[in-house]
Amino acid sequence: MSEPVSSVAAGREFLAIPGPTNVPDAVLQAMHRPMLDIYTGPMVALTDSLLRDLKRIFATEGRCYIYAANGHGAWEAALTNVLSRGDKVLVLESGRFAIGWGEAAKMLGAEVEILPGDFRRAVQPDQVEKRLRADTKGEIKAILVAQIDTASGVINDIKAIGEAIRAAGHDALFCVDTVASLGCVPFEMDKWGVDVSMSGSQKGLMTPPGLGFAAAGPRAREAHKKANMRTPYWDWTFRDGPVHYQKYCGTPPEPLLFGLRAAFDLIFSEGQDNVFARHRALAEATRRAVAVWSEGQTFDFNVSEASERCDTVTPVITRGGESAQALVDYCQNKCGVVLGRALGKTEGRGFRIAHMGHVNAPMVLGTLSAVEIGMKALKLPHGSGGGAAAIDYLAQTVPA
Ligand SMILES: *Cc1c(COP(=O)(O)O)cnc(C)c1O
Repeated sequence: MSEPVSSVAAGREFLAIPGPTNVPDAVLQAMHRPMLDIYTGPMVALTDSLLRDLKRIFATEGRCYIYAANGHGAWEAALTNVLSRGDKVLVLESGRFAIGWGEAAKMLGAEVEILPGDFRRAVQPDQVEKRLRADTKGEIKAILVAQIDTASGVINDIKAIGEAIRAAGHDALFCVDTVASLGCVPFEMDKWGVDVSMSGSQKGLMTPPGLGFAAAGPRAREAHKKANMRTPYWDWTFRDGPVHYQKYCGTPPEPLLFGLRAAFDLIFSEGQDNVFARHRALAEATRRAVAVWSEGQTFDFNVSEASERCDTVTPVITRGGESAQALVDYCQNKCGVVLGRALGKTEGRGFRIAHMGHVNAPMVLGTLSAVEIGMKALKLPHGSGGGAAAIDYLAQTVPA
């Protein structure tokens, strides 16, 4: 045994939380520059390029909007532009985030119904179809769902939910939160029949917090014409106007926009398919480690069905509901890795490992190793060799 060391956390603290995520140096550098005129020249060209590339990222021919806002702001943008007070909204529960979006809708004056789900399961499309078939008067005007729920760690099958809505012959607007999925896993707004999508800058898009996005398909634009929840800042009609500053309803958040440009350049130069494959591989490596740890009977995946586990964040829970705070603290204070805390129904009884955005093998393996060091140091029962299982998986999946 060598001398005990109080901490090995010096060096860059590593954020393994599901947002904000790690911002690439190229994005940080792009933001550090003088401000530009907001009416002409390079700023206008920058906006055009970002709106064009947002369409590419959302995979839509619809119109995209950029807000100086976080995800909660983009939620409000999506709702206020297409709904009227008293409209009924169906929230598809699968964790915490669609519920939060529904709470915003309620405060804005919508009538909100929750299609109950399970904190450990994805939305079941057949249940959506059943509920919509029962809505014979067509009272439901919009359906809200998160593609990835960052609290539970499920990925919802947006394509299948879209098919369920059409199978029921229902014409409610299909609204999807892609804050924790866009730029990390495939999303096909138009092909999957999504009417409104929203997102934010600080997760898969690798840009600091502060930009919110909305994308509107043709049916959303129709609904917009008669929506009475509209307010000046979020309003699409004003933002469609001819003067550049209208695109932001005021002064553009210029540094963030330059950062987003650099982030998009990184995504397109890596290639979106490669970005998705990288997320899949690093997520699976994480899952291999968690599967081994869970053999110790203390820890488990939050998401019970393997096929419903998402590729951007892996929430781990304690089987007996014990706190995992000592482990989270150990990782941060002793190893310099910040894990996500458990949210929603698992609050206080687990942790989350994010593998979202600007991540590579050493970042993910380093995080897994720190967790494993913590489990050993704290003598938490766990299957040993989780990190090794992740390494074995990556060695097979990333051939020489
Ligand atoms: C983070 C997150 C949000 C909220 O975004 P903020 O920027 O924190 O307001 C909404 N939905 C999902 C799925 C998220 O992961």
